[in-house]
Amino acid sequence: MTTAAPASLDLTREHARRLDAADPLRAFREEFERPAGPDGAALTYLCGNSLGLMPKAARTLVGEELDDWSRFAVEGHLHSRRPWVDYHELFRELGARLVGARPGEVVMMNSLTVNLHLMMVSFWRPEGRRTKVLMERGAFPSDTYAVHTHVRARGLDPAQHVIEVGPRAGEALIREDDLLSAIREAGDTLALVMVGGVNYATGQAFDIARITAAAHAVGALAGWDLAHWAGNLPARLHDWDVDFACWCSYKYLNAGPGAVAGCFVHARHGARTDLPRFAGWWGNDPRTRFAMGPDFVAREGADGWQLSNPPILALAPLLASLRIFDRAGMDALHAKSRAVTGYLRALLAARAPAGCRVVTPDAPGTHGAQLSIAFERGARERHAALAAHGVIGDFREPNIIRLAPAPLYNGWEDAWCAADALCAT
Ligand SMILES: *Cc1c(COP(=O)(O)O)cnc(C)c1O
Repeated sequence: MTTAAPASLDLTREHARRLDAADPLRAFREEFERPAGPDGAALTYLCGNSLGLMPKAARTLVGEELDDWSRFAVEGHLHSRRPWVDYHELFRELGARLVGARPGEVVMMNSLTVNLHLMMVSFWRPEGRRTKVLMERGAFPSDTYAVHTHVRARGLDPAQHVIEVGPRAGEALIREDDLLSAIREAGDTLALVMVGGVNYATGQAFDIARITAAAHAVGALAGWDLAHWAGNLPARLHDWDVDFACWCSYKYLNAGPGAVAGCFVHARHGARTDLPRFAGWWGNDPRTRFAMGPDFVAREGADGWQLSNPPILALAPLLASLRIFDRAGMDALHAKSRAVTGYLRALLAARAPAGCRVVTPDAPGTHGAQLSIAFERGARERHAALAAHGVIGDFREPNIIRLAPAPLYNGWEDAWCAADALCAT
């Protein structure tokens, strides 16, 4: 292992239990359903970076919508307990608090990849010399597909118009300075920087404010994929001056498989109702929406990018989940996350077998809950062995096991069990 464990680290399970007992956020664990193994015992679930656990309240809120649908049918748009016509408004404040936005800058809609496409239509407007998109090499494939297809749709060649910045030869992480110098070098040919806030494979988190400022300094815009950031790290998207951001809600946000995604549009763009966009009737000004005229009039704010009337049954679990985040608070969750992930890292440093190394950086601000552990050999077999010990993490090609203690429902004993299983395999 690369980092040495502090000599004083108490390696016992009892110590982990004591830390859990002193955790002020401990009660939130009981608000989630948990899968069990074949013997009926709850599994140690460290896979919330891939699919978060189900909040118990999701069942209640979905059930209420089913009841209202059966009781009210079409009248439910206006007369159900949470009228469907305004359902997305329930996220106005909740969504803004989650990512440090102003009310009106965040809307929950579609899926992540759809939102990336919608944002690129509005915020990647190649003109003259200024055409290029800068992204990270090894981005999540869907992001790369989205960017490349936009470039091709305008008759341009991704090889000429997409700049990729990756780790240096022999290194696993992208140096932030390399991103910044690539931005400066692209200068007035750069139209958009679109990077993942936390890299899904390595768990590396970038300084969003700093990179956004560098993009602005050369006259480009900055959009962020926050799939692995939302619900994992606190954000101040408005103050960081981010132009747009998109995230999915089924990872750390626990809103269920294929959940409705989030989208942030900075107020200075939201006010520009003339901005080009792919439009749908739900983005139209509600005052004229039902006039059913042929001319689209965008409503102000992120809401103006909505296409369709909101999917109520899919939004109900997101409402259940975001109410929990709102009660816990991202700053408190992040403080616990740092402690638990740091503890897991220290246990691995003390006990892990030779040939494995945590790739995720350690400095404050450079990681969230996830640790990506690279194995010289046998990663796939180790992942299977972890599962046989009742620990759920995941495996990413070619040699990475990802473990992510989610602070809402994981604690120190979970980290202890994961380290114990990994070291026993
Ligand atoms: C999870 C993830 C996606 C998935 O996209 P969907 O449209 O939600 O299926 C895309 N990009 C990143 C960076 C991700 O981590």
